[in-house]
Amino acid sequence: MFDPEGRSVVLVVEDEASYQDALNVGLTVEGFVVVAASNIAQARVLMDSTKPDLVLLDVMLPDGSGIDYCRELYDSTRVPVIMVSARTSEVDVVLGLEIGAADYVTKPYRLRELVARMRAVLRRPAPTAEEEAVSFGDLRIDFVRRTVTLRGREIELSRKEFDLLALFASRLGQVVTREVCLDTLWWGLELSDTRTLDTHVKRLRQKIEADPANPRHLITIRGVGFRLDA
Ligand code: CA
Repeated sequence: MFDPEGRSVVLVVEDEASYQDALNVGLTVEGFVVVAASNIAQARVLMDSTKPDLVLLDVMLPDGSGIDYCRELYDSTRVPVIMVSARTSEVDVVLGLEIGAADYVTKPYRLRELVARMRAVLRRPAPTAEEEAVSFGDLRIDFVRRTVTLRGREIELSRKEFDLLALFASRLGQVVTREVCLDTLWWGLELSDTRTLDTHVKRLRQKIEADPANPRHLITIRGVGFRLDA
């Protein structure tokens, strides 16, 4: 849905009226255009008619599972989905990520935290029609299919590894600061946890570099960040 004021349109799929009402008010105050569905059937209709920028998707819905609907969305559109669940087990978290969800929150959540995650997801680079893939050297990154091939062979990347590589590739030849990496992919991680970023970069190098110890593509800029060179 085109909003003349440039606001992001969010489809909230939620059957609990108290949550739906709170999100309607809270997210509107935060500058979003809120489209509300209370079941999957409504969500399907509104997906087509409003073309949202983001979907907030409850797991337990009266006419089906949000998890199945998330898979359906991931297969058919490029819209990012944040799963919302009342269940907190780690299995659910992992599951939430494997079904193509961009992020995951558990009830009860704070509006401020949810909005921070929504903004982080919306900041992630989205493929445009002209730029659906990037190729250089032996590497090809397909933003739409979310696949990376090295010398024609598909390599396995975790969701975060792919998101990180896509972030670098969207700014090929430019330095991406550590802050931007953390802000885009880990939305406000504690500073002591920034090793996670280095671990992901190291794993990416092992997967895409011929000699990971002497990287030719994924370069570290000491104290600043990283740069992907073609
Ligand atoms: Ca529910």
